[in-house]
Amino acid sequence: MEKTAGELLKEKLFYTKKHGGELLTEAEINEAFEFCKGYREFLDYSKTERRAVLFAERVLKENGFVKFEGGVKYNKGDKVYKINRGKAIIAAVMGEKSLSEGVKISAAHIDSPRLDLKQVPVYEDNEIAYFKTHYYGGIRKYQWPTVPLALYGTVVRADGSTVDVVIGESEDDPVFCVSDLLPHLAQTYAKKPMAEAVDAESLNLIVGSLPFRDDKASEKVKLNLLSILFEKYNITEADFLSAELEAVPAFSSRDIGFDRSLIGAYGHDDRVCAYPALMAAVNCIAPEYTTVTVLTDKEEIGSEGNTGLNSSYLKYFIGDLAAPFNLAARQVLSKSECLSADVNAAFDPNFPEVFEKRNASFLNYGVVVTKYTGARGKSDTSDASAEYTGKIRNLFDSKNIIWQTGELGRVDIGGGGTVAKYIAGLDVDVIDVGVPVLSMHSPYEIVSKIDVYMAYKAFSAFFEQK
Ligand code: MN
Ligand code: MN
Repeated sequence: MEKTAGELLKEKLFYTKKHGGELLTEAEINEAFEFCKGYREFLDYSKTERRAVLFAERVLKENGFVKFEGGVKYNKGDKVYKINRGKAIIAAVMGEKSLSEGVKISAAHIDSPRLDLKQVPVYEDNEIAYFKTHYYGGIRKYQWPTVPLALYGTVVRADGSTVDVVIGESEDDPVFCVSDLLPHLAQTYAKKPMAEAVDAESLNLIVGSLPFRDDKASEKVKLNLLSILFEKYNITEADFLSAELEAVPAFSSRDIGFDRSLIGAYGHDDRVCAYPALMAAVNCIAPEYTTVTVLTDKEEIGSEGNTGLNSSYLKYFIGDLAAPFNLAARQVLSKSECLSADVNAAFDPNFPEVFEKRNASFLNYGVVVTKYTGARGKSDTSDASAEYTGKIRNLFDSKNIIWQTGELGRVDIGGGGTVAKYIAGLDVDVIDVGVPVLSMHSPYEIVSKIDVYMAYKAFSAFFEQK
């Protein structure tokens, strides 16, 4: 049937989003599913920033990247990486062009919301041993009780030696858990507003319940726990003073849905951008422009600290890379471009009232280009320019990348931020590009495999620019 003049004109003039499941061929959908097998391996290994750094370092080494050395004049094709305090990593591939023409940066974060142990966490209450926690990042506290949790981290003993802890992941490991009230006795609690239903100081992990066998000692359950920890890790209660221990969901990623189109997992935000960015970095063999991939820490608490992007570590790295060419960091950065690789909120049909549908992102509609984040009148955001947004639009369209725009919910409903504003602060052109997520910041987030693959294609296209 021939189209009418009106139908043709509409096609020409209207903007319509397109569903990846309709646009892609079956072979392309299979490619996306294949790519996500690798992503799921990364997810299951890398539940904390330190683990993600270890995974990334292994992948980089396997692909010929070597440790960055200050003062070395790197040639085109050279591949280097630098680890920042075990919690952030930068990888660079030297391009054909001089650094004076700028670099292409993609930046994702590898920390996720979780429960951190306090410095004096161990106590016993009514013959149950607990660890006290202080939650990290934005969580809805009611989601965390009754979830099996694993414990990861590093303890520095009194003598300065360290021990790494990973427990709760293998089938025969124990896990840990925060208890919740039975419905029979929850009538009063059930009437509380959700935000007050679970007090932060009640997010205490159950870690033991048997007493140390002794007639005289007190706090015998705590004593029994500490004796087990001493035997297993050679640590005492005081060693928790100098530890970073993080409780994260103990379960692995799974396919969701009869069609297996989605992945459920802890910590998609922002490993779902970190993995595609890392893969784009290793698969872009001979870039025109030098590529710089940053996997950073501390985004979830505002990019603070010396492993977050509000510190100078990226600027210093660029400076060290440029110094042998008699270039200052600012000369490189001012010509550089960045994809701030972070997730956006996917439209959730269960909660349509918090979204503005015309500007929301949807599962399976591809990678999300977010011009600005922030809250209450674009506060606290880097609002990408029309020119840079136009350039990215053109790039993605020319490479047949399925992409959509996205705003984080209705105006004045809430809001959020990413690392974009800190990179913009270095005088770099930057825009947020990432994957839409359902149930963001919950223990079990959901993404679409098509969107994950489109993120990979987007970062690859960005790195392969001529
Ligand atoms: Mn994020
Ligand atoms: Mn987040």
